[in-house]
Amino acid sequence: MVHTHPRAQPPRSPVSAGQRNGEFKNLVNGEWIESKTGACFDNINPADTSDVVGRFQASSAEDAHEAVRAASAAFETWKRTPISARARILHHAAEYLEDHASRFAEELTREQGKSLNLSKDEFLRSAQTLRFYAVEGQSLTGETFPNDDPDMTVYTQREPLGVVSIITPWNFPVSIPARKIAPALITGNTVVFKPSSDAPLSGYRLAEALVEAGLPKGVLNFITGSAADVGAAITEPAVIRAVSFTGSTAAGEHIHRSVAFTTRTQMELGGKNPLIVMEDADLDKAVDLAIKGGLSLAGQACTGTSRVLVMASIKAEFTAKLVTKVKALKIGAGLTSGMDMGPLATAKQLETVKRYIEYGKREATLLCGGEHLSGGIYDRGYYVSPAIFADVTQEMRIAREEIFGPVIAIIEVSGYADAISKANDTEYGLSAAIVTSNPRYINDFAQDIQSGTVKINRTTTGNLINAPFGGLKQSSTSTFRESGRTGLEFYTQTKTVYRGC
Ligand code: NAD
Repeated sequence: MVHTHPRAQPPRSPVSAGQRNGEFKNLVNGEWIESKTGACFDNINPADTSDVVGRFQASSAEDAHEAVRAASAAFETWKRTPISARARILHHAAEYLEDHASRFAEELTREQGKSLNLSKDEFLRSAQTLRFYAVEGQSLTGETFPNDDPDMTVYTQREPLGVVSIITPWNFPVSIPARKIAPALITGNTVVFKPSSDAPLSGYRLAEALVEAGLPKGVLNFITGSAADVGAAITEPAVIRAVSFTGSTAAGEHIHRSVAFTTRTQMELGGKNPLIVMEDADLDKAVDLAIKGGLSLAGQACTGTSRVLVMASIKAEFTAKLVTKVKALKIGAGLTSGMDMGPLATAKQLETVKRYIEYGKREATLLCGGEHLSGGIYDRGYYVSPAIFADVTQEMRIAREEIFGPVIAIIEVSGYADAISKANDTEYGLSAAIVTSNPRYINDFAQDIQSGTVKINRTTTGNLINAPFGGLKQSSTSTFRESGRTGLEFYTQTKTVYRGC
């Protein structure tokens, strides 16, 4: 939720640190500065809305243009900075994140709602991502091509693109920025980074880590504000050579269509991820995978399990086990240890989830949960009990649309072919899983499923730093994958050189 209000005092001149009295600044051209608007917005704790985690700059298009100009001015020098120097900065930034992981994790939990353990893992994973690209980026190579001229060498060389914009959501507010910013920087690009207004502090800490590590001015510019105010300024000018975006399909499609013809895009978008439970599945394991995949992060993972397709012969037993376990989950603040599920991250998300639960109640059978919790701590945050729906059919909204909340739809299937046909009957294709030990199903599933991530006897959620990640269909622009070595390709272009003597 974003409240804008004027700042009490007139803007101060730039100061070396970006944070004072709970107010966090933009980073433009190496200076931590306030927005020209003189306004801030509050970053609210979804587990306790009386807790303001910080106030961030409500930037304008003018602020954003300045950030783009700074990135543009810094490019030629950064491009020529030795790769070992660029790598060293990423290593130092990783160290900074590791050194402060406990404190930053608490902030992440306060701004986003997930448990402290998950927040700490996310900071450590982000540090690991910086280290991975510091190493992997140093061995990115071109190719040489045989030819008939003995005096000529033909080869490709890679070079950075220029200014890239990085726009990220609130659910993984540091690991998603890290997996975009690290490959952008190691390959010599300069960056304008806009985090989500619903969890900007963790991204701020990443920017701070890179500054503390010695990143030269203008190479990374951090700017907060609403998409309406700064979105076009950081996506549409032709000087922006690439936009790496993670967020909703609607916003990603809009950006993809509005950028310049010469701007590359990498859009990682929504999902409606299925988990198929075959007749031979270990049902306890299948239940655990459904719960972990569907309800950790309160269902707010792009790869979260939102549909469970269960064979008719085992549906009753699976469903009974699932409902029993889901009813026993403890719901509370991420800062409280022992909680299984935290709040929804924003007031808007709470409204969306409640709306889909109402659709579900009209369309299908609610087996448990789906209540907007109240009383005690629940009155202070955005808490919903996880909802399990049965008798869900393909045409229902809860079977088709991304909810991004703790709602699982159980869909009965009659066999493997029916399961695949229903799993693929969606506009999305981000992640999909199957629970089975049958080698035939395992083999066929990896081929038949229309999904960028395929999991066998694992949750739909979770992906490795060193393996490619991305979706099919409307879950991604399917141009360049993120993560792993492949993640470097988006940020480089190739020249073919014919070198004679
Ligand atoms: P969102 O689309 O509302 O916002 C994402 C980011 O884009 C925010 O920083 C927002 O301010 C910015 N933005 C929105 N419109 C913009 C525009 N026109 N120009 C520039 N910036 C713009 O998404 P959200 O609510 O923050 O995140 C939830 C969504 O993200 C879900 O749909 C989820 O599936 C998706 N997601 C996808 C992945 C993935 O890797 N595929 C990962 C995490 C989340």
